[in-house]
Formats: sequence, structure tokens, C-alpha cells
Amino acid sequence: MLDADFFRRWMTATAASVEREAERLTDLDSPIGDADHGSNLLRGFRAVTAVLEKEAPDTPGAVLTLAGRQLISTVGGASGPLYGTLLRRTGKALGEDAEVSEDRFTEALRAGVDAVMALGGAAPGDKTMIDALVPAVDALGDGFVAAGAAAEEGALATTPLQARKGRASYLGERSIGHQDPGATSAALLIAGLAEADG
Ligand code: ADP
Ligand code: MG
Ligand code: MG
Repeated sequence: MLDADFFRRWMTATAASVEREAERLTDLDSPIGDADHGSNLLRGFRAVTAVLEKEAPDTPGAVLTLAGRQLISTVGGASGPLYGTLLRRTGKALGEDAEVSEDRFTEALRAGVDAVMALGGAAPGDKTMIDALVPAVDALGDGFVAAGAAAEEGALATTPLQARKGRASYLGERSIGHQDPGATSAALLIAGLAEADG
């Protein structure tokens, strides 16, 4: 079973990898974006860490909805509302229980990813964070490590794609040959699950 502490560790682990990888995320956002993805997520996840410490929510659902709200209110770029929606919708689907099963979490995360697709209009193959998130949810039944590997593979597979959503889509064919920054950060987020578990 997964409790509020697990979800807090998930957010903390993600914040730590965003700190480590911010420069790389911004570099990836340079040729096909506006070179701010790392700084956007740094600002967002620092705020998430701070608010979770301050408010100490005591259920899995409350941890994720609070984190999601914080991302929406602190990140200016497209990724803020999208990741914010992901966490808020996942948190809402977890309800008010003090502990949730891994299966319940998988279904909740699926609802969160569906909400991101509804908000941003991206489908798999459009070269966005969705290309890491959908395979991750599909692999989650095999455990956190498998989900992390699937997300990483999904992120790497965005390189040959032409972007059809977000800023990178303005480049048309010139977006081909670059790994998507949002898919790369989504893989960091999913990798955080195994870290929180260990
Ligand atoms: P901005 O593009 O506003 O500067 P960021 O650089 O923080 O925002 O985030 C860019 C990332 O957001 C992209 O690499 C892509 O993965 C993701 N993204 C952009 N638009 C969409 C969308 N409509 N649906 C899903 N993901 C998207
Ligand atoms: Mg950007
Ligand atoms: Mg921007």
C-alpha cells in the first residue's frame, strides 16, 4: 500500500532530479523551444517541496492535489498547467483514503494522463510529455522500475518525431532530430516513483 509519505517522497525525489537535470532540460528546450523548461520546473518543484513541508497534507490524494495546484500557480510555461493537471487529477482520483493500492494508483495516474491529453490536445506520437507518460502508465502494472524504463524509452523515441503540439510544432519538420524536453522531464517524474519506493 502507498501512503502520504510515499507520495511526498515521490515529489521530493522528482524535485531532486529536476535540480540535477535542469540545465539539460533547458538545453533540450533550446533548439525546439524557448530554453526555459529546466528553469520552469526548478521554480515549480522548489515551490512544491516548500508547500508540502509547510502544509503537511496527510493523504495521498491531498499530497498530489496540493503539488498540482502549486505547479499551476508557479510555472508560467505550458508545462506548469499540464503537469499541474496531471498531479491534481491523479490526486482527485485517489480520493481521501490514507493508503491506496498500486492498482488504484495506476488507474488514478491513467485518469491524470487522460486529463493532460484533454487539456493540451496531444496524442501519443505528437512529440510531447504524453510520449513518456502513456507508456509509463501502461507499464505500471509491472512495477515502478518497469514504468521508469518505459518512460525513458518513450522520451528517447521522441527524437525522430515531428512535433504537432506546443512551441516545437511551430518549427514543423525542423523539430525532427531533437529529444522533447517535456518527455524527458516526464521520464524523471516517473523514475521518481522507484526512488520513493526504495
Ligand atoms: P513552454 O513551451 O511554454 O516554454 P516548457 O518549456 O516548460 O513550456 O514545456 C515544454 C514542454 O511541454 C514540451 O517539451 C512538451 O513536452 C510539453 N507540451 C507543450 N505543449 C503540450 C501539449 N499541448 N500537450 C502535452 N504536452 C505539451
Ligand atoms: Mg519552453
Ligand atoms: Mg516558455
